[in-house]
Amino acid sequence: MGNQPVLVLSEDSERTSGRDAQTMNINAGKAVSEAVRTTLGPRGMDKMLVGSVGDVVITNDGVTILDQMDVEHPAAQMIVEVADSQEEETGDGTTTAVVVAGELLKRAEDLLEQDVHPTVIASGYRQAADKARETLEDNTIDVDASDEEQLNRIAQTAMTGKGAEDAKETLSDLVVRAVQAVVEDGEIDLDNVKIETVVGGAVEDSELVEGMIIDKDRVHANMPKRVDDARIALIDTPIEVKETETDTEINVSSPDELQSFLDQEEDMLREMVEDIKDAGANVVFCQKGIDDMAQHFLAQEGILAVRRAKKSDVKKLARATGGKVVSNIDDITEDDLGNAGTVEERVVSGDEMIFVEDCENPKSVSMILRGGTEHVVDEIERAIDDALGVVRVTVQDGEILPGGGAPEIQTALALRDFADSVEGREQLAVESFADAIEIIPRTLAENAGIDSIDSLVSLRSRHDGGDQTAGLDANTGEIENMEELGVVEPLRVKTQAVSSATEAAVMILRIDDVIAGGDMGGDDEDMPDMGGAGGPGGGMGGMGGMGGAM
Ligand code: ADP
Ligand code: MG
Repeated sequence: MGNQPVLVLSEDSERTSGRDAQTMNINAGKAVSEAVRTTLGPRGMDKMLVGSVGDVVITNDGVTILDQMDVEHPAAQMIVEVADSQEEETGDGTTTAVVVAGELLKRAEDLLEQDVHPTVIASGYRQAADKARETLEDNTIDVDASDEEQLNRIAQTAMTGKGAEDAKETLSDLVVRAVQAVVEDGEIDLDNVKIETVVGGAVEDSELVEGMIIDKDRVHANMPKRVDDARIALIDTPIEVKETETDTEINVSSPDELQSFLDQEEDMLREMVEDIKDAGANVVFCQKGIDDMAQHFLAQEGILAVRRAKKSDVKKLARATGGKVVSNIDDITEDDLGNAGTVEERVVSGDEMIFVEDCENPKSVSMILRGGTEHVVDEIERAIDDALGVVRVTVQDGEILPGGGAPEIQTALALRDFADSVEGREQLAVESFADAIEIIPRTLAENAGIDSIDSLVSLRSRHDGGDQTAGLDANTGEIENMEELGVVEPLRVKTQAVSSATEAAVMILRIDDVIAGGDMGGDDEDMPDMGGAGGPGGGMGGMGGMGGAM
């Protein structure tokens, strides 16, 4: 007794504990953050991500890169979640949040080497994060929800560095108008902004339509191209005669019998169209198919019909036009119909699209985004997503900050001051936090090919002298007044980045035991590979395949 090792875990489980576990997790987190660091800021580079089936995404968007990377290591995934929550809360600042999280981990590693206990680091980091948010809140610029000029600047800052930059005036105008169109009692539901992408044409030809655009054409050439005073039926069942489930054979013994069988089918279709017409509809959006014969009858009645409309589009149409989605054509009544001023098929860049305008509920707009190639349009759509997010947050909160590293420098300064008042070794953690947050201006400089030490030194001295808006103009390398330069971001993007980065770093730091495999319900193949995760990228499935980064 006594010398026999006691096996508590199953044989095939792997366990890493103490410093090894910490090092492994910290490295995994740092690797993720390192992967997106070069994309930060207006001069950041793009990444080309090649999927397993050869699909290609070219992007500068932090959250998109991380989602595509298929990160497997559990600690690395926590960093990916930082990006996800940042995206959800604010729509922008994902790279910032991830880069700060990585830097907090890196600084924590140095503290661990100096034997500062992880819980002390965690506590210091939390205090620092509180102070950081306070500092950010103290330095805001107020914005009125109707201040279009400022909202345009916000949108443009979010779009810089992305494919949309060349047309940012056109696009930011669309974004601001879209958000203002859907505001309802201060609430903004971006689901009311529908985005259609069209390959072909110039980015500047992108436009905003008050109403909805459905990327479909009318089913029959004899249907009207335009219907004014539209009464719209929304139907989620096929306008077809139901086919029997199994193959059935129908024996007809005379041409008359065949004819009567066909007549019967025709009658049923005619009846469906009659029901729709009797309800008063002159436009039909059907989520399923429409039989050829029914198409013909609809056309005869002068009804414009669209088949196989997307379920999500039909739902949005219901909201926009005030109609109800009908599942049983027999039961359709006037009350189920939606209303719109006009429904019209128009050609956009060689593609027919149905425009539903002057809707009952005008709180619904569509944006047609155009660009030369699919990659371009996709990246523009992501930039627009970010811009919509920041404008929404600004309209809601009314508080913004100068960008270009200004808030981070200001925060670092305040934290270094604050550190003096913190007792014990937590002070070291607060100082490390101050150093860590300066990774943002440092990276902005590095990515722009500017000497980052020079930039940091000048920025600190400008802020020390009370110049809170001094930031790095990444295009010239000069220190400029960011507010005057129009580089502004919502406060919430910055406070959220501090919060989520701190939470993830603290959570990772507090882990000192990693038990993989064993009996956690899953089989081993589902368990993350924890072996050999000592170096960056170790155990991170998917990262290796990302060699296409440019
Ligand atoms: P994120 O995913 O964090 O939003 P971005 O690549 O969009 O990453 O970069 C955002 C950073 O770039 C912010 O710190 C913002 O202030 C800064 N930035 C944007 N435009 C400029 C500019 N013209 N000059 C300097 N910094 C800028
Ligand atoms: Mg951004």
